[in-house]
Amino acid sequence: MTASSQASMLVVVDVDSTLIEQEVIELLAEFAGKADEVASVTERAMRGELDFAGSLRARVASLAGLDEEIIGLALEKIKLTKGAELLIEKIHASDGKVAAVSGGFIQILEPLAKKIGLDYYRANTLEIVNGKLTGDVLPPIIDKPAKAVALREWAYDLGLDHAKTIAIGDGANDLDMMQVAGLSIGFSAKPRVRVAADILVDSGDLSDVLALIGL
Ligand SMILES: [Mg+2]
Repeated sequence: MTASSQASMLVVVDVDSTLIEQEVIELLAEFAGKADEVASVTERAMRGELDFAGSLRARVASLAGLDEEIIGLALEKIKLTKGAELLIEKIHASDGKVAAVSGGFIQILEPLAKKIGLDYYRANTLEIVNGKLTGDVLPPIIDKPAKAVALREWAYDLGLDHAKTIAIGDGANDLDMMQVAGLSIGFSAKPRVRVAADILVDSGDLSDVLALIGL
């Protein structure tokens, strides 16, 4: 790798309620008529009151039998968080890289990542057989430790010291990657993240992160 191709920084962003306004599992659950049930489990999981992997499996099980076309319908409902595109644009303009890691689903994250120009992305995979969701997720589960592993792997791939990595998230699932990162930013964060993060952003605008990382 030549000096000119060395990335200046790596910013790793959580997806649900950070990069996007919604929790994707809740959008999908609406199509199953189980929105309330799933939302209460999501809230407890993000507060760190439930084991994430177990609660993910329980929530995805409620989607069993749904047609895969609900993924496209959910994608149409997703709203990027205010300032997300500006954040990505400015990081790229300063030779930085932007990644997203999600306890949600790759079938949603991949088209989104391609559209907004993310450099890396990783999420869980909904199992689909004969056009229907089976209610299962395929291993490996992307949970709290797996998010930290993703950050480490991407930093290694870029030849970047962890000091030049920044993690942005809102939920308990983001705590491990925030601990590994050189700088951790809690974005409209839940209580446990508020205690752990280096900096909090509560404006709801991701571009407010720019000033905090010197851009
Ligand atoms: Mg989140």
